[in-house]
Amino acid sequence: MIEREQIEMDVVFVGAGPANLAAALHLKNSIAEHDELVERGVRHGNKVGEIEIAIVEKGPYVGAHILSGAVMDPIAIRELMPDFLEQGCPVDTVVTDDAFWYLTKNRAINPPLVPPPLKNKGKYIISLSKMCEWLAGKCEEAGINIFPEFPASEVLYDDNERVIGIRTGDKGIDKEGKPKGNFELGVDLLAKVTVLGEGSRGSLAKQLVTRLGLNEGKDDQVYSLGVKELWEVPADTFPEGKVVHTLGFPSDTKTYGGGWIYGLKNNMISIGYVTGLDYLDPLIDPHAEFQKFKTHPKIAEVLRGGKMLRYGAKTINTGGYYTMPRLYADGVLLVGDCASFLNGQRIKGIHTAIKSGMLAAETIIDAFEHGDFTSRTLRHFEEKVDHSWIYDELYPVRNFHASFQSGRWSALINSGLQFLTGGMAWGFMPKEHHIPGHERMQHIDDRHGNTDRTRYAELKFDKEMIFDKITDVYHAGVAHNEDQPSHLHVLDTEICATRCAEEYGNPCQRFCPAAVYEMEFNETRKRPELKVNFSNCVHCKTCDIADPYQIINWVTPEGGGGPDYKGM
Ligand SMILES: Cc1cc2nc3c(=O)[nH]c(=O)nc-3n(C[C@H](O)[C@H](O)[C@H](O)COP(=O)(O)OP(=O)(O)OC[C@H]3O[C@@H](n4cnc5c(N)ncnc54)[C@H](O)[C@@H]3O)c2cc1C
Repeated sequence: MIEREQIEMDVVFVGAGPANLAAALHLKNSIAEHDELVERGVRHGNKVGEIEIAIVEKGPYVGAHILSGAVMDPIAIRELMPDFLEQGCPVDTVVTDDAFWYLTKNRAINPPLVPPPLKNKGKYIISLSKMCEWLAGKCEEAGINIFPEFPASEVLYDDNERVIGIRTGDKGIDKEGKPKGNFELGVDLLAKVTVLGEGSRGSLAKQLVTRLGLNEGKDDQVYSLGVKELWEVPADTFPEGKVVHTLGFPSDTKTYGGGWIYGLKNNMISIGYVTGLDYLDPLIDPHAEFQKFKTHPKIAEVLRGGKMLRYGAKTINTGGYYTMPRLYADGVLLVGDCASFLNGQRIKGIHTAIKSGMLAAETIIDAFEHGDFTSRTLRHFEEKVDHSWIYDELYPVRNFHASFQSGRWSALINSGLQFLTGGMAWGFMPKEHHIPGHERMQHIDDRHGNTDRTRYAELKFDKEMIFDKITDVYHAGVAHNEDQPSHLHVLDTEICATRCAEEYGNPCQRFCPAAVYEMEFNETRKRPELKVNFSNCVHCKTCDIADPYQIINWVTPEGGGGPDYKGM
């Protein structure tokens, strides 16, 4: 029997996104500061000393799997590193102009006032992928170990359900599940504290929250899918530093959705569309919604004569404060998107991810100082969050997404009330409003107006402005070794061929933005059956979330596989 290697660390961070990179760096810097103050007698307490910190990342390099808009509120990075600009943080440009367009089918209504949550002047337009690469460099300079191509595949527990680390995925297994010549067993990384910062719908966070019941008494999480392209447009078409957010076309009024255009340097723009994955009509296709968005005259005017360079798609956890799980258990903390720190109203989570990581780091220092890594000490993380500006920002907008579940007009009225009363008006709304998308999706039903078969009838994939999924996936630089077991576990394919086909028309073919799921006619069985093109997967996790029967389980593939979002 091959022995599995065990490596002892002090703290292991799962995922090299902004939350964990900030956490690890803040931890390292704050320990040095803390110990110096204790040494000088300025602070009472114990020194922490040198600790071993590791960050594991499933992508081939830090940033490869990072996809965002992205306008960053600098409040948190400034706290982490007050001289972040002088230290070379790769911000693209400063926001100098904001606009909000309400789109009807053919017109754009441009109200003179931009809704306050969408005001971004003075914030930074960035490539989050580039920023994470830069932050990873800072972490390495500080002596933090970063292991790219190391997906964490399992949480490790002791006999008392205390988290004691993670197991990384095995390498070199063929599609039949047999070891190949390059087979390598994953390692067990043991740690006193494990921090999950896996981003939206983290695969370990999902296991942990369920196993330890961390979402008891909380609302179910709700998600959206953001589909993005990076374009080069003709000079003077869209100014650098301009930020546009849209509402309306092409989403119907029952569906949560909106678009963005951000003007970067060198005539580049980030353009994208967000669709709530709690839509009702199973015929909705978030990728097609984005393509349709680009056909609007006001949007097409920006893109005409330009060239699409890159593509990506990723889910966003939109539920907010009420959907935040318990953030700690013995030996473990949850930070960033996988712990619901995103502000859905502002569509911003970078700053809250960074701040959550910093507060987690401060909690970990307390734990080392007292030599206690159980919930007794780690629960202080939640108190720190509730006493920080994260609470002040997230609590007043706690019902933002829930109100969209009653339709766009109710949401707009509620948003207005919320603004006028500083968040008080929503205190009267029942909080059980967050219904997960897979429960909301309705059966195909042409009689009651739930199903719109004409939704994309006019969409022409001209491959100049409007792209099909396969062309877009090519621009996401996706690569997976095809000789490995599929990382998309469909637990009962019989349902796909029978009930799902009849009830929902196999919505996986539409909700997946990367053409992973296909119903293919099986000549022997004389019926369409599910084919999973796992190598197209962009790791957005939509299938794990949106499948109405909850029979798709996304697990980490072999390390290094996935999209390449360099510079996105
Ligand atoms: C389309 C889109 C547009 C957005 N626009 C904005 C915006 O304009 N402004 C803003 O502030 N926010 C925006 N956000 C939200 C913002 O990107 C997130 O809130 C933020 O990235 C969350 O950071 P995180 O560290 O929690 O997770 P992530 O950034 O998702 O990083 C998680 C990392 O963990 C890795 N990982 C996951 N699981 C494992 C595992 N098991 N093992 C090893 N590694 C793993 C991933 O590969 C990834 O590198 C947007 C999000 C999307 C999807």
